[in-house]
Amino acid sequence: MDFLRPVTWEDALAARAARPGALPVQGGTDVMVEINFDARRPEALLDLTRIRALTEWDTADGLLRVGAGVPYARLIGELGGRLPGLAQASRTVGSPQIRNRGTVGGNLGAASPAGDGHPPLLAGDAVVEAESAERGVRMIPVAEFFTGVKRNALAPDELIRAFWTPPASGPQYFSKIGTRNAMVIAVCSFAVALHPGERRVGTGLGSAAPTPRRATEAEAFISGELDWDGRRPLAEPAVRRFGELVRAAASPIDDVRGTGEYRRHALAVLARRTLTWAWDDHRKATVGKAAS
Ligand SMILES: Cc1cc2nc3c(=O)[nH]c(=O)nc-3n(C[C@H](O)[C@H](O)[C@H](O)COP(=O)(O)OP(=O)(O)OC[C@H]3O[C@@H](n4cnc5c(N)ncnc54)[C@H](O)[C@@H]3O)c2cc1C
Repeated sequence: MDFLRPVTWEDALAARAARPGALPVQGGTDVMVEINFDARRPEALLDLTRIRALTEWDTADGLLRVGAGVPYARLIGELGGRLPGLAQASRTVGSPQIRNRGTVGGNLGAASPAGDGHPPLLAGDAVVEAESAERGVRMIPVAEFFTGVKRNALAPDELIRAFWTPPASGPQYFSKIGTRNAMVIAVCSFAVALHPGERRVGTGLGSAAPTPRRATEAEAFISGELDWDGRRPLAEPAVRRFGELVRAAASPIDDVRGTGEYRRHALAVLARRTLTWAWDDHRKATVGKAAS
């Protein structure tokens, strides 16, 4: 098996175009498991770890641009305040070793329906920056990025350069059901993000369908129900309806981790719970601002 080690992004794109059979590897926490279990035997590996640009993040036009190679541990430490939903999800990924190596870029590349990075990216309106040597940059809204079970919208000659997302403008929460607290693939997961400036709620569902997805009807319903000035508390029937619409947005399978019915039930619970936490935070911030 060849091992390609480009040092620049341009060389990586050239290698990707010249060797479509070469499998990109960043943290290797998915790729090496697949190779060890003989689930995959690529003709070559395209090692991206020497490309410094992938491990950097910055801000542009009010958005965060996070390199595909920034590991979870750094996301938590350096961006936790600006991306609290993604940081919460990152804290649930694997173990400290996995969080030191694993990346959101790799999570997107693997495109597992259970990937923990995906729900907060969906709730937060993230966009994936993909690039090829021939056609240049392509910006793919994350809601359009997942095309099937472990499939994504990348062309064979494209690599993920970064993801873009606005820093949180309101409370964000992520919650995950698993059989224990660490080292567990989600039975199901849910992310919510409040966007008070736009009076809008974003959502993301994990392990709930062939791809991670938003609950768009639930978003539209609850965005219209909330008293965004924070004077009224959350109405119980509205929270319940939100949970039902999230449940209806899921089309989960029965598998060893849980039944489809259990997942639907759990998603409704997670949706109600996380929305309540987020709304309480929003009200405290809004009422606090009005009082001062
Ligand atoms: C013990 C263990 C526990 C785990 N726990 C969790 C968990 O709790 N939650 C969770 O979501 N995941 C978990 N995972 C899976 C894995 O850690 C994550 O999916 C991680 O985000 C993968 O990132 P990586 O950088 O290691 O990706 P890699 O293994 O390097 O790559 C993963 C995929 O992405 C592709 N890829 C990588 N970088 C790019 C790029 N720049 N452009 C295009 N394609 C690219 C690769 O070709 C490959 O298909 C776990 C894995 C292990 C081994």
